Amino acid sequence: MKKKRIKLKTEVYYYLAIIIILIIGASWGIKKYQQYQYQKTNEYKLTEAGYSLENSQMLIKELTDQDISYILAKPMDDNILNLMKEKYFLKENFQEYYEYHLANKKVALTDVVAIINCHIDNEYYSLDLKTDMTKNYAILVNKYYQMPQDYIPEDLVSVKMDYAWGEYGSIKVRQIVMDKFLDMWNAAQAEGIYLMISSAFRSYAEQEIVYNNYKENQGEAYANKIAAKPGYSEHQTGLAIDIFSKTNTNRNTFQDSDAAKWLVNNAYKYGFILRYPADKVNLTGYNYESWHYRYVGEEIAAYIQKNQITFDEYYAYFLNK
Ligand SMILES: [Zn+2]
Repeated sequence: MKKKRIKLKTEVYYYLAIIIILIIGASWGIKKYQQYQYQKTNEYKLTEAGYSLENSQMLIKELTDQDISYILAKPMDDNILNLMKEKYFLKENFQEYYEYHLANKKVALTDVVAIINCHIDNEYYSLDLKTDMTKNYAILVNKYYQMPQDYIPEDLVSVKMDYAWGEYGSIKVRQIVMDKFLDMWNAAQAEGIYLMISSAFRSYAEQEIVYNNYKENQGEAYANKIAAKPGYSEHQTGLAIDIFSKTNTNRNTFQDSDAAKWLVNNAYKYGFILRYPADKVNLTGYNYESWHYRYVGEEIAAYIQKNQITFDEYYAYFLNK
């Protein structure tokens, strides 16, 4: 009887031992399998490539699988992470930014982002992008975005000769521009500055005449430098005005006048921005024009004034959806 009990006990231990071995084996197998599975993840591959776990997770969260494959095909580079920290970084442009950076290593990353966002890496007039006319006061027209040939704003009004040169009826702007310009005019007047509009709405056909004149007389390269091609001029929007003062109408010296200085500091309050600033020629594609103002609305104008970016950059980041 005693012997049988001992035998039973031994058998129990025996089976227990087998079960324990099986459990250990299984958990080892599961662990190995999980390890094998993990090695196939982007997180593993990125950390192996030299990115920290935190950065790897950030890259995976922010970018597409295709972007990650692209990153893994290149040597580890902190500038990939630095690019993503840029204020106006757009995910969809990631590979374009990085390619541009590799080809132009001396260009600061902030500028790389701005250049790609504004399409400046392309030849002027080479993209044939269509201006999204539903954006109303915030439509974008530049050397890449073209307006419809037949577009003429429906709410054009003639500027009174108290505020513009030429014959009555020759200077037209959209109603909102007239209203806001008058507010601005009064504020400037109160400080002894007399603003005057020299040019405003220009139809496609009128811009064609301006452009062709330059082209015929001074050649295409010069024409492209000095005037917009028809369809690509902001003046066709009815939202752009060339502003001088009653005492200074000279394109070469207006920038130093009190009126120009007043406009730089105050126009945004009325929804206008200096569209082609001196230090942004590389982003706007236009030489400095101290007289060319564009109505974009007060909210956008205030942002642009505060952050000192171009409308092209603003549009790419906030409106191009
Ligand atoms: Zn202009």
